Amino acid sequence: MIRLVDVCKSFGEKEVLHHINLTIEEGETLAIIGGSGSGKSTLLRLLIGLIRPTAGEIWIGDQDIAQLTEKELDKVRLHMGMVFQYSALFDSMTVGDNVAFGLREHTDLPETEIQRIVTEKLHLVGLDNAAQRMPSELSGGMKKRVSLARAIAFGPDIIFYDEPSSGLDPLMTAKIDELILHTQQTLDVTSVVVTHDMVSACRIADRIAMVHEGSIIALDTVENIKQSKDERVRAFFRTVA
Ligand code: ATP
Ligand code: MG
Repeated sequence: MIRLVDVCKSFGEKEVLHHINLTIEEGETLAIIGGSGSGKSTLLRLLIGLIRPTAGEIWIGDQDIAQLTEKELDKVRLHMGMVFQYSALFDSMTVGDNVAFGLREHTDLPETEIQRIVTEKLHLVGLDNAAQRMPSELSGGMKKRVSLARAIAFGPDIIFYDEPSSGLDPLMTAKIDELILHTQQTLDVTSVVVTHDMVSACRIADRIAMVHEGSIIALDTVENIKQSKDERVRAFFRTVA
């Protein structure tokens, strides 16, 4: 379980997240949705421990990661998979080496086992013959899928996605959504997906948290949030639907 208690985050004088309280249940998919600049990525970066809160607690299981040293954080991150907004692949490495990177870095698995995992994960994301290709030869959607393969290579308990389908056409977006759902079902992970695509959010999420100007203004199941009476939530549905 992930639990944020009264989390605030400021950059300099400016507070961009205000008193966030949020519990994410084990095994659920939570979509974090909201307008540009509302604080979604900041919230995600706090959850991954890339930045620290100005105040409050961030519990991942039984550890408040706001209190951990960098070394301790590295250990927690071994249980997390991350798919970043801009894929963040290593351009000088083949696709296969990108997927294998964390395994080589953090485990003593023999190379044959690493290759087996790479093949299996690339198969899962529909990129069977891509291991020897370079990231620069791939389309945006393929890069996202490599990114996902890399994120799941380690067998994470939690996967964080920042705008997994940004810059993709509706068909590829639907494919990525399917993959997220498939990953969810086959690996039994907890997923946190930041997106500004309400259609995607409704497709993949169990619950949706809506962030507006640094506060969570709604948190509910997809069905309930669709019926929300809050004008700010309704406005968001209108603009993106
Ligand atoms: P988008 O949909 O455009 O990705 P977002 O909801 O992810 O937006 P954030 O990136 O979390 O928004 O930014 C929230 C606010 O925090 C913005 O006003 C942004 O300028 C500010 N901010 C984010 N990171 C920093 C930083 N490192 N230093 C200063 N301000 C920052
Ligand atoms: Mg963002």
